[in-house]
Amino acid sequence: MSEDHADRSRILRERDYRWEGAEDAAYKAEGTHFSGVRRQTLAGGPAGQEALGFETRYFQVEPGGYTSLERHQHAHVVIIVRGHAEVILDQRVASARPLDCLYIAPWTWHQLHAVDADEPLGFLCSVDRDRDRPERPDADALTRLCADPAVARRIRT
Ligand code: MN
Repeated sequence: MSEDHADRSRILRERDYRWEGAEDAAYKAEGTHFSGVRRQTLAGGPAGQEALGFETRYFQVEPGGYTSLERHQHAHVVIIVRGHAEVILDQRVASARPLDCLYIAPWTWHQLHAVDADEPLGFLCSVDRDRDRPERPDADALTRLCADPAVARRIRT
């Protein structure tokens, strides 16, 4: 049995923050609620060749760009690998730099912003393979989030 898996071990080689053999994917269906984001799935992708219950993805956000503001039941582990981030976590804004590791708990509103003028924000993000769909904020949720002035300044929808 173990022999079946032995030849599936592999190394994806990186060059300039792209991993050879990992497909480039659009971040999400087109929309205006995010900006300047690309994604690669490094492990646990739909091909299902790895014995994993999770996926590890690389996201890159261009300067001034941001991910969508969302929440969901599944949690995230995010490790910054390049650039600096400001991260909305419910009603606060946290700063993060390379090798900082964030845990984003279930049902936490979150949005990552690339704040360097000349360097993209790159981060690794692990999630459950089977997970619920993200929810976007309605007007009431936005009002609650924007009660904090720092969040109100940073938030993009
Ligand atoms: Mn998310």
